[in-house]
Amino acid sequence: MASATESTKQRQRVLVQGIVQGVGFRPFIYTQAARLGLAGFVCNDSQGVTIEVEGTVEALADLQRALREQAPPLARIDSIAVELLALRHDESFVITHSQSQSERHALISPDTATCADCLRELFDPTDRRYHYPFINCTNCGPRFTIVQDVPYDRAMTTMRAFPMCPACQVEYDDPGNRRFHAQPNACPLCGPQVSLTIWGEADEEKLITPGVDALDAAARQLASGEVLAIKGLGGYHLACDALNEAAVRQLRGRKHREAKPFALMALDLETVRRLCQVNEAEAALLQAHRRPIVLLAQQPVCPVASGVAPASSTLGMMLPYTPLHHVLLHAFAQSVPADRPAVLVMTSGNMSEEPIAYQDDDAHSRLRAIAGGMLSHNRTIHMRCDDSVVRVAGGGEQIFRRSRGYAPEPFQIAFELPVPLLACGGHLKNTFCLGKGNRAFLSHHIGDLENVATLTSFREGIEHFQRLFAIAPEAIAYDLHPEYLATKYALDSALTPQIGVQHHHAHIASVLAEHGLSGPVIGVAADGTGFGTDGAVWGCEIMRADLCAFERLAHLTYVPLPGGAQAVRQPWRMAATYLAQTYGDAFVDLDVPFTRQLDRAKWRTLSQMIEHGLNCPPTSSLGRLFDAVSALLGLRTEVVYEGQAAIELEVLAETAQQAGMRECGSYPFTIGQGTLALLDVTPVIRALVDDMQRHVPAREIALRFHYTVADLLATACSEARERTGLDSVALSGGIFQNRLLLERLQERLEGMAFKVLINRRVPPNDGGLSFGQLAVAAAQLQRQ
Ligand SMILES: [Zn+2]
Ligand SMILES: [Zn+2]
Repeated sequence: MASATESTKQRQRVLVQGIVQGVGFRPFIYTQAARLGLAGFVCNDSQGVTIEVEGTVEALADLQRALREQAPPLARIDSIAVELLALRHDESFVITHSQSQSERHALISPDTATCADCLRELFDPTDRRYHYPFINCTNCGPRFTIVQDVPYDRAMTTMRAFPMCPACQVEYDDPGNRRFHAQPNACPLCGPQVSLTIWGEADEEKLITPGVDALDAAARQLASGEVLAIKGLGGYHLACDALNEAAVRQLRGRKHREAKPFALMALDLETVRRLCQVNEAEAALLQAHRRPIVLLAQQPVCPVASGVAPASSTLGMMLPYTPLHHVLLHAFAQSVPADRPAVLVMTSGNMSEEPIAYQDDDAHSRLRAIAGGMLSHNRTIHMRCDDSVVRVAGGGEQIFRRSRGYAPEPFQIAFELPVPLLACGGHLKNTFCLGKGNRAFLSHHIGDLENVATLTSFREGIEHFQRLFAIAPEAIAYDLHPEYLATKYALDSALTPQIGVQHHHAHIASVLAEHGLSGPVIGVAADGTGFGTDGAVWGCEIMRADLCAFERLAHLTYVPLPGGAQAVRQPWRMAATYLAQTYGDAFVDLDVPFTRQLDRAKWRTLSQMIEHGLNCPPTSSLGRLFDAVSALLGLRTEVVYEGQAAIELEVLAETAQQAGMRECGSYPFTIGQGTLALLDVTPVIRALVDDMQRHVPAREIALRFHYTVADLLATACSEARERTGLDSVALSGGIFQNRLLLERLQERLEGMAFKVLINRRVPPNDGGLSFGQLAVAAAQLQRQ
């Protein structure tokens, strides 16, 4: 006969799914089991973590509570399934080895910034890992960038090349140690090593410094004005002293990057505050374990070199996120005068337009022309991963590039995908998205799909994700633009069905899906370029949208896009086009600087192209309207990257706000009638030109223009509400990276009692397209 205690005993099998591998989950369970006197085992398997455990009903309930309330900081539990088993009378609790199974549901954690415990050891002269640039533990270190296959075990990572020394092995095997089964565990004796190579003239390598001295030597090189290539977590950076004008200019020149701001890495938060204004939410993002680049407003007097972020009022700042960065920044701070902020330019290691270098040979050959030397190491990066970029706007986090520290963490979808899916994304800022069950894996940043190198990384990324997450897609989603390489990839694939998703529908769907909604809502897509179902270049669309379908309710009146892509590079073309729409050919006689400086011959050619409809697709792009106003105000007639003119217009408008101007009215516009209402901005252009002729300051005009666009979109939403009865609005598209416009519109809409949804965890720009495409394709398949 069983005793009383026996009869209250149970054995359970607990399957925990989510991000539970490589985040200290098994030691956590082990510790809990020891505390509660439970017996059994825990192991990683391809579905997550399986726990078999027996003990009193009370102790088992306690374990469940601990799972829910005390899981390790990096763990994300998606589900816990419990099953009762027959008692096996285990005597102790053990951690058993990983099992490989055909089903692979395990999730790989993103790369994680050095934790406080590791930092303490890193700067403790008595610790055996003092200044060792690869220190890590179960709570921090490389993950996604070193994983080659699942389950997540050392043998499946690029750390396999470094057999652990006895001291590291003891830590690794001890369930009570914070490095228990920390797969990248290493020390100066057994782990990866850094080295600094200074390149000489011709091909010779002048000087090689191995080991930890390399970091001091590199810091001195940087302090003396040198540009170095530095191998980080997901690729190489190009670095130089951010306060050194000559070094920054040299880097910009050699990298062929004329205008885009460089990201910076500062020693600590205090140093960031000397350069930028940092509020509480921004400080939290800077210090978060994901460690993104955070866009911050510059201090009125900011000591960084003027070449870091030309014509920009913000700086992209990050804090050190690997031990290598921590040690380097400390050494750098000691190499420059004590009162000088220790800040390095840390821009991606590539020539403009190429993907970031991450393989050593490739970095050596491509970066040699840019840098004077290379601080490298011998731990292989398996997956390239750029820094992520975020900003605080509209009362929360907005993400512009979702990559290191975020990918490959999946999103939960509110419904079960009918089949595994692949969505190929867009052309610029490409990402792809794979989905299965109720999870969507949005890839790291791939880049602009404009060259072979990026296309290769797109293909390889898809294969890697398919293997890692065991997803064999049975349908494929793509953008309607026939010339996008991602679209061609989809149409050339053997997968069917192939589901074309309109660009702006995908943007709006990305908002819905990230909020767990299926619509319908009023969607406002404000964008640069997206292929419309009528073949026009869309970009300012008010739609009634749910995940399955959309109906276009209103759009910006079409104007010709003279020369297609050329018009994107040359905003003066759009200014002239809008003036011609407003005033006819007589616009050339207007007395404003733009027309006085206009090259009449060039305009004649352009106007003939427009007249004959030669390479002049109609466009409703809001981005092009911003370009037109920017050129009209004399800010910029040509740009080197899309959005540049609009960004500078926003900066100008902000200066008006900073000068104390809050309410300055807006320009008149008209909204047409009918099932497809036209948003006509010719009255805006006319009033704006009047302002110019009355010599109203350009910054005031820029601000009034921003307010006008917000009013125009808010009014269009109000009319859409009357037609549809909907009172939720979803905002998406690249234009909503403009904070001034976003916040003004949000305020307007909320004032009109709309519920406003915006992208928080997915980029509003084309980096979020693939996620929206996936949601649309899934919803359409589900309905069939
Ligand atoms: Zn750690
Ligand atoms: Zn070791």
